[in-house]
Amino acid sequence: MIVAGNWKMFPGPDPAVLARRVAGIAGVDAIVCPPYVSLARCVEAGLTTFAQNVHWENEGAYTGEISPSMLLGLGVAGSLVGHSERRQYFGETDEGVARRAQAALEAGLGVIACVGETQEQRDSGDMEVVLRIQVDAIRDACGAHERLVLAYEPVWAIGTGRTATPEMAQEAHAFVKSLLDRPVLYGGSVKAENADELMSQPDVDGALVGGASLDVESFASICQAAAHSHS
Ligand code: PEP
Repeated sequence: MIVAGNWKMFPGPDPAVLARRVAGIAGVDAIVCPPYVSLARCVEAGLTTFAQNVHWENEGAYTGEISPSMLLGLGVAGSLVGHSERRQYFGETDEGVARRAQAALEAGLGVIACVGETQEQRDSGDMEVVLRIQVDAIRDACGAHERLVLAYEPVWAIGTGRTATPEMAQEAHAFVKSLLDRPVLYGGSVKAENADELMSQPDVDGALVGGASLDVESFASICQAAAHSHS
């Protein structure tokens, strides 16, 4: 089981305190995804550290971007790609997300690639169509790479306090895995209170946690729930 904490553009907890708190939790790979300025401190604290995004080139005139080799040089283990906030607010496309994922994997990084439908797409019955387009782009570029993990994050559940029911998550995860057979994390308002029932679903292989990862105790509780769940 994997529990990844996405700090987004928040300072997040003290890496050393967090590292001490999660060190003793067996059976779960805890990952932090801090803002770029905190990557080095998280690595130094001994946390498995992922960036929140990565570019496909190793260097070049790409203002505001960071490359796979730069991340590797810091001791960073991987990166998120395709988070819905990148897709929604910064115009990232399926093609760009796939290129980012492919370059990161080729460089030796791990990747958590995010997919998920909006409320409007779900309401109009297009959830599977949208997931298929998003996952196919990643699959065509990366295949079932051993360092690739997917995250199913319904956009309507991110930062809203609305969580998919365990049954909704299970259905979407099974569908995503039928397209690309890799572990799938659930993301969207995961908290200590709902982590157990979400992660007890057979095709939920962990969680991608936003808001609740900013608090050491709530992140640790979600890691504990993962450690006690099925695999
Ligand atoms: C996320 O940022 O990926 C996320 C799922 O956020 P939250 O847990 O706050 O909904």
